[in-house]
Amino acid sequence: MKTSLPDRVPVAIAGGGPVGLTLSALLWRQGIANVVIEADEGYCTGSRAICISRRSQEILGWVGADAPLLAKGLGWVGGRSHFRQTEVLHFQMPSEVTQRFAPMVNIQQFYIEEYAHQAMAEGASVHWNHQVRSVITESNGVTLTIETPDGERQLQADWLVACDGGRSTVRDQLGLQLEGTQYEGRYVIVDIRQKTQRAVERLAWFDPPSNPGSTILMHRQPDDVWRIDYQIRDDEDPAEAVKPENVLPRVQSHLQMIGETEPWEPLWISIYNAKCLTLPSYRHGRVLFAGDAAHLVPIFGVRGLNSGLDDAGNLAWKLARVIQGASPERLLDSYSTERVHATRENIAYGAKSTEFMAPPDFAFRLMREAALRLAVDDPHVRALINPRQSSPIEYTGSTLNAGEDAGWTNALAAPGAPAPEALLRSDGGNGGDFHLSQRFGLGFVCLVFGGTAPGLPSDVQALPVTAAMDVHGQAWQRYGLRHADEAALVLVRPDGYVMGRWHGLNAARVTQALQSTGVSE
Ligand SMILES: Cc1cc2nc3c(=O)[nH]c(=O)nc-3n(C[C@H](O)[C@H](O)[C@H](O)COP(=O)(O)OP(=O)(O)OC[C@H]3O[C@@H](n4cnc5c(N)ncnc54)[C@H](O)[C@@H]3O)c2cc1C
Repeated sequence: MKTSLPDRVPVAIAGGGPVGLTLSALLWRQGIANVVIEADEGYCTGSRAICISRRSQEILGWVGADAPLLAKGLGWVGGRSHFRQTEVLHFQMPSEVTQRFAPMVNIQQFYIEEYAHQAMAEGASVHWNHQVRSVITESNGVTLTIETPDGERQLQADWLVACDGGRSTVRDQLGLQLEGTQYEGRYVIVDIRQKTQRAVERLAWFDPPSNPGSTILMHRQPDDVWRIDYQIRDDEDPAEAVKPENVLPRVQSHLQMIGETEPWEPLWISIYNAKCLTLPSYRHGRVLFAGDAAHLVPIFGVRGLNSGLDDAGNLAWKLARVIQGASPERLLDSYSTERVHATRENIAYGAKSTEFMAPPDFAFRLMREAALRLAVDDPHVRALINPRQSSPIEYTGSTLNAGEDAGWTNALAAPGAPAPEALLRSDGGNGGDFHLSQRFGLGFVCLVFGGTAPGLPSDVQALPVTAAMDVHGQAWQRYGLRHADEAALVLVRPDGYVMGRWHGLNAARVTQALQSTGVSE
């Protein structure tokens, strides 16, 4: 097969995993041609990410990949934790009937890759069986040497985004290293096929009679697949622990304990240990890092792929504006500072979850046991064992936060916060319903409450929100207005984050905000 690689592209993406493929689709939606260089011949195999957050569903929705995701995935809102055989926690994530997406959807990672790939259009292409071998950086771009099915080829790119995963070649080529810690505790990851009638929930058992001393997690996936994760003892040899003769009896014992009696077969067995690692900066001149190439966070709390998709959502519009000459190059520095901040928050949450799921020492084990014992009778203690599932991180302190007036009724929509969702009625209240988040993901949007705001910059789309449209009162309350008819402007970034909010309808405040933050020159 002859490679169809061009000689020069505006953006090359190293790695066609879920983050690289999604970024490619997002960039093309912004009008930026790009190529994805992927070492493997197709989508990933085996069991990796399965829990896709509401925020990730929104990002995938920007390129239309939400429809197949929702058709295939299994939505869920909560879970149950057990100490031995007693239920000690039944948690629910924030959810309401007017919401667009479930808080979490379970689906195998290879489906996410397939849907993101399908969302790529003619200006974006993936080159399978192409491996990045070396990277030479220059002030105005990079030169990649790529191993293709018909020999080595060179590719010039104005920009390179490294999405080539935890063992990133690009990172090595630039002489960069991840910083942070790794945990010793190991989990065996097992996928099995078995039919079940059980509700879709996150299920956890601590010290269950089926596997005394262990912690077991179970998640349903599409295609009658269960994902079962269990902790192995510190003195167990990992190579032995993944042998089917050691795995299958443990799984059978647990299925029996919980009353799942249908026949089953194993599909996948691997081993995992939690890592809290990040690059200190995700921008190195014309090279940007995203997803696992930039950071590795523990799977507990499901922040790996979910945060990688957030990287892609943050980067796509900024890179597009810089390439199109609408913003100065330094806008990309904010990609790095915002997403490194998000990683550090994700690592802090993920580390707490890991220390609970796989206590690193005797003291942690003792504390966990105490919390679990107390939780049986004391509902207040149950908060301690909540699994802290992934949620979007606020960009507090970002240079893109343009400020706000005083006098809002809440901080939900403060600059740097993810723009709150609201269900609105179109055509001034006479049309069909739509969610605010459906209007985000492409360009700047200014929510115009209680009137009109002539004179908004040409690259900002006005979205009027009247009391008649706000049928559930969600928009004015969540955006901090005092009443449904109050006049106010809220500037929302292309990635659905609030940039600034102001009382009244003075469009000049929006222009000033874009200039003072350096988004426009
Ligand atoms: C057991 C397990 C469970 C997980 N569960 C969850 C979960 O529920 N939710 C969640 O959010 N996250 C989860 N994660 C994390 C998630 O799988 C990763 O964060 C995610 O795969 C990162 O995507 P990525 O595209 O950045 O990297 P990857 O998926 O690693 O993709 C990188 C791609 O780059 C390619 N590549 C590598 N080197 C080169 C090269 N030199 N040239 C060209 N291509 C190259 C690779 O072939 C690969 O396709 C889990 C991970 C594991 C291991």
